[in-house]
Amino acid sequence: QPTVGVLAVQGDVREHLRAVEAAGAIAVPLRRPAEVEAVDGLVIPGGESTTMDKLVRIFDLRDPLVARLRAGLPAYGSCAGMIMLADRILDGHRDQQTLGGLDITVRRNAFGRQVDSFEEDLRIRELGPEPVRAVFIRAPWVEEVGPGVHVLASVHVADVDHPVAVREGNVLATSFHPEVTGDHRFHQLFVDLVRRA
Ligand code: GLN
Repeated sequence: QPTVGVLAVQGDVREHLRAVEAAGAIAVPLRRPAEVEAVDGLVIPGGESTTMDKLVRIFDLRDPLVARLRAGLPAYGSCAGMIMLADRILDGHRDQQTLGGLDITVRRNAFGRQVDSFEEDLRIRELGPEPVRAVFIRAPWVEEVGPGVHVLASVHVADVDHPVAVREGNVLATSFHPEVTGDHRFHQLFVDLVRRA
């Protein structure tokens, strides 16, 4: 069984630990620099990316995480986790940094105040015919993708399709939170990537 570390400085860590285990991997909370070497995959939870950014630096996790991501560690980020994995960020807080690893430009809090939080059924071919209930909470969307990035799902807003689930090699990201719905197909897809990597 592969071991998947869930970054545990802030956010909905417990929900991801549960979803990773349901998908058949060993799930461990990741808080210390020394723990970064021991995992076969990384999950970055939903939460608040500005706080997560500060805490990964305070806990000396930033450099080891960036190094492993550059070396090809499989990773999955939901919502704030998508922001942390993005190479470029729009509407970031002053001085906000990401870890990077995913060749996308992400826009924070993109859906705005009117539709702060919402749910939508999305069809994601890679997960089979049954739609995914996508829960968006002050979510980002993907503004631009690099040439190696596959868009798995988009949300249509004001006549424009905005990607909300993407994959580049062994790195996955969603604007929404599959960890809160009890549908573990997204985590299953990720654990399968980790197993093959
Ligand atoms: N708006 C948050 C941020 O910028 C993300 C919200 C979430 O993870 N649900 O980090």
